[in-house]
Amino acid sequence: DTMINQIAAGEVIERPASVVKELVENALDAGAGRIEVATAGGGLNLIRVIDDGSGIAEDELPLAVARHCTSKLSNDIHDIRSLGFRGEALPSIGAVARLVIRSRVRGAGSGSEIRVDGGSLSGPQPAPANPGTMVEVRDLFFATPARLKFMKGERAETSAVADTVKRIAVAFPQVRFTLTGGERTRLDLPAEAQGPDGMLGRLARVLGSEFAENALAVEAEREGVGLSARISIPSFTRANALHQYAYVNGRPVRDRQVAAAIRAAYADVLPRDRHAVAALFLTLDPALVDVNVHPAKADVRFRDPGLVRGLIIGAIRQSLAEAGI
Ligand code: ADP
Ligand code: MG
Repeated sequence: DTMINQIAAGEVIERPASVVKELVENALDAGAGRIEVATAGGGLNLIRVIDDGSGIAEDELPLAVARHCTSKLSNDIHDIRSLGFRGEALPSIGAVARLVIRSRVRGAGSGSEIRVDGGSLSGPQPAPANPGTMVEVRDLFFATPARLKFMKGERAETSAVADTVKRIAVAFPQVRFTLTGGERTRLDLPAEAQGPDGMLGRLARVLGSEFAENALAVEAEREGVGLSARISIPSFTRANALHQYAYVNGRPVRDRQVAAAIRAAYADVLPRDRHAVAALFLTLDPALVDVNVHPAKADVRFRDPGLVRGLIIGAIRQSLAEAGI
């Protein structure tokens, strides 16, 4: 079983940033209003995520770390509204690291914890805990040294963690996020108000106030696919595409087709070595998009890729044209 979990971990958990993504998504699924992420050694020594969400009851802690146990699966695999749905993350992490989950259900008098160390389980047992959940991951990949060799070094892993937190944070402006651990990657994102102002406030903190103040608004809809975006004017661009954030139904995605559409939209106004800054939100019927392609890569498969591409290019070009660009 540990072997199966280690193999699964190879799929879900590529690097510290993948652990952070899974733990933060779990916190959001638990309805957290505040999420604290701390790392040490690029996340290879320590990753700790604390939330003030629903918590996990003592008798459910063993289920949380059991393979394919999820409290979130709906009947229809295409109708995935919560972020997690596979029940793979925690058992996978427990197979390749030292995992501690300490939790207290909101309103409960006391808390409990469970430990999984390279696959072997101890607990649950009573433990002092604040309401919500703390998940601590130490010595990531100690149980799979071959994987450890692929890590890129502390700086690179730390900035991948920060990038992951920022991408998620933009999708949840009402949630307070903090990130500590790397010198240049500290984040403190206060909870923003609901609505467009809150979204702009969060974008200003994550992508910079200069971007938020000068960005052009894009709003469009075509055949049931909605697009809402903020895009940079051509004088505000970057040397790489790292500052393009894309979301499908509120889920951060890294998708080549979306990136290619943004590039095509700017083709006439930007040199090839410059990249727009953009935050782009697509909304569509969950049955028309598959976010299930790979557990970690955040690829998406649109039922009608041409429609989405045309929508993005058309809407961005229109906004640029209206701004006289
Ligand atoms: P999934 O998110 O796909 O369900 P995970 O392995 O990530 O699978 O988590 C397993 C289960 O543990 C979740 O379904 C949820 O019930 C519980 N859980 C995990 N993290 C938290 C958390 N931070 N707060 C409350 N419950 C959690
Ligand atoms: Mg999960």
